[in-house]
Amino acid sequence: MNVLLVYAHPEPKSLNGALKDFTVQRLQAAGHTVQVSDLYAMNWKAALDADDAPERDTNRPFDASRDSKLAYAQGTQAADIATEQEKLLWADALILQFPLWWFSMPAILKGWVERVYAYGFAYGVGEHSDSRWGERYGEGKMKGKRAMLMVTTGGWDSHYSTRGINGPIDDLLFPINHGILYYPGFDVVPPFVSYRTSRMDAAKFAATCEELGVRLDELWSTRPIAYRQQNAGDYEIPALTLKDEIAPGVEGFDAHTR
Ligand code: FAD
Repeated sequence: MNVLLVYAHPEPKSLNGALKDFTVQRLQAAGHTVQVSDLYAMNWKAALDADDAPERDTNRPFDASRDSKLAYAQGTQAADIATEQEKLLWADALILQFPLWWFSMPAILKGWVERVYAYGFAYGVGEHSDSRWGERYGEGKMKGKRAMLMVTTGGWDSHYSTRGINGPIDDLLFPINHGILYYPGFDVVPPFVSYRTSRMDAAKFAATCEELGVRLDELWSTRPIAYRQQNAGDYEIPALTLKDEIAPGVEGFDAHTR
């Protein structure tokens, strides 16, 4: 299988750097082919702006969606964007690896998503009408591929439990798992999260690698998070609210998981 690891940490000698090296070695030892997009090493441009559509009509104001759509359709996107899209099409599985920074991904990785997820590539795909709202949430160009988050946190696991002060980790990661990965069609497996990293020492690192190794070995057999497909009958169209008879009484993020 082909695995794309998109890695966002500025320091190669960090914990994340060590976990990235472990991941690459483990996957390769199992016979997989791995490409790493090491965003800091690549000096990845994080800001989506007019330079991403270098041949756009400069007589019109820059429009992030419209110019993305045109550049993607016409094959005139910035070269770094097109290269990352090719890697995504090549991959059977995508891993996004990052330290939790302010309860989300580092800005450089958010910028990778904003720029690489072009209109027509990751959104605006398929028929859009009153009876159909495109191919997304379980459908789209990434359908049939798997995705997983690899996250490290300073906070303890209890801080991220269902009654923990930081909020449940599944809720914090929902916008990434559901909104960024499931949206263009990935089957998303539960995240690998390493908590309380300030307490990392050789023994904890060995245990973390042991646990991570199993998750990598089982990447293709782990049951994905059972998000509800947009076009499988659970939602009213075009309102895109759950039908009254689906998960009655359940609201918020939980309602969108079967
Ligand atoms: P490092 O700092 O590189 O290492 C962590 C520990 O692991 C160190 O003690 C180091 O000695 C040890 N270590 C490193 N490599 C190894 C190895 N190979 N073997 C054994 N031990 C090793 N945390 C939250 O919980 N929520 C937040 O919202 C949040 N926001 C943040 C925002 C910012 C801007 C920053 C800078 C940090 C934030 N943090 C937050 C903390 C952050 O998530 C952690 O610092 C990060 O996940 C640790 O990962 P690292 O790779 O940077 O670890």
